[in-house]
Amino acid sequence: MAVIILQGCENTSEKNITQEQKLEQEHPNITKLKGQSTEFTPEIIKLNENVYVAVGYDGSNTSMVIGEDGVVIIDALRALGAAEIVANKFREITSKPVKAVIYTHGHDDHTGGTSAFIGDSKNVKIIARAGFKEELQGKSPVEPILKKRNGRQFGRDLPAKDIINRGVAPGSTSKDRVGKGYIEPNITLNDSLFVNLAGIDFQLFAANGETNDELFVWIPSEESLFTGDNYYKSFPNLYAIRGSQYRDVKSWGESIQKMSTFPVEHIIPGHTRPVSGKTIAYKNLKNYSTAILSVYQQTIDALNKGYTLQQTVESVKLADSLRNQPNLQEFYGSVSWGVRSIFLHYVGWFDGNPTNLYPLSSAKEAKHIVELAGGKEKVLEHLNNTVKNGDYQWGLQLADYLLQTDYKITKITEIKIQLLRSIAAQQINAPARNYYLSYAYELEKNNVK
Ligand SMILES: [Zn+2]
Repeated sequence: MAVIILQGCENTSEKNITQEQKLEQEHPNITKLKGQSTEFTPEIIKLNENVYVAVGYDGSNTSMVIGEDGVVIIDALRALGAAEIVANKFREITSKPVKAVIYTHGHDDHTGGTSAFIGDSKNVKIIARAGFKEELQGKSPVEPILKKRNGRQFGRDLPAKDIINRGVAPGSTSKDRVGKGYIEPNITLNDSLFVNLAGIDFQLFAANGETNDELFVWIPSEESLFTGDNYYKSFPNLYAIRGSQYRDVKSWGESIQKMSTFPVEHIIPGHTRPVSGKTIAYKNLKNYSTAILSVYQQTIDALNKGYTLQQTVESVKLADSLRNQPNLQEFYGSVSWGVRSIFLHYVGWFDGNPTNLYPLSSAKEAKHIVELAGGKEKVLEHLNNTVKNGDYQWGLQLADYLLQTDYKITKITEIKIQLLRSIAAQQINAPARNYYLSYAYELEKNNVK
């Protein structure tokens, strides 16, 4: 299946480019997304004499803080096999026993390899938020569909040639005993916990954001901040297209604001490489909280003006000064998805326009639109033009109308597959790209010839 990479032709010189040349050109967004993969090169990074972070060995980061008589591990990867590799590297640095493990939140990619780090250590404190892991997918009544969508978002079944990365994680991660090293917390905190571990003072703060069991860790003596998944090098995933409960966007922004009040020398995120230097650390935290709270407030203001969902999405924009920041590129999260999520959280599914109280069935709407457009053949002709012109989103919407009319289903499905691949080839957002491509493969597999 050919993949058309060039976006809409805007001028005559671009129109002269042949189809073959188009196929060879890589969209600048894909080049940027590929560049993000350097965040996941496996490395044990030494931040100072006591703080080490392992990046790129699995989907997330794990860190070791060396104290007087032992070490503290912050987050524990997903696969036990990957955790064993890192634990061995940590032991080459120090043989001190593990005194405590801190989970920044309950997502599986941060909790599955704990036993590898603990090894022979005794009486290890395992610390997390109260309510740890309560909101996980496995406990949801809609778990079967969440699982399917999760697979698409992360591109789990994509062939190697289609894999770039997952936005804030490598394109594929260890499958070696996933989750088999998980150990439950034995100490939980509500709002905060100030505790001395291995001779070092730790400050833990509850910080709702990506999850409602999220916390961040501040170590004053090391000037080190462990953000969990409330911060990483990408616009934050305020809504996950795999399907998730509401992520508290306001608290998320405020938690980053609070982080920025500390004299941070090292930001150690849950994903992507650490950032060192007081000026850049402060700048990054500041622009992150400003971006999140700005998206939140603009959405609230639009809602109060009576805007519909679509009008709200179109009205909310990040200022250029934020949009251009390297740590706010939409590799993982997307501004418009966040806006939709906030809108639905506050007012539910009804967008305020009475037209949408009892809409036509999608089949009836499709029938009318196709008739208005001059019939199925006419729409198909137009659909083919959207492919040629690079008008992929409109093409997808048109294809969906035709697919509801029982007209040349196989042919229209083939065009839809082509459109999905073409639109994927323009995405900077890894979950969107993975979803388009995964869905295209599913359609291809099921398309009756
Ligand atoms: Zn994570």
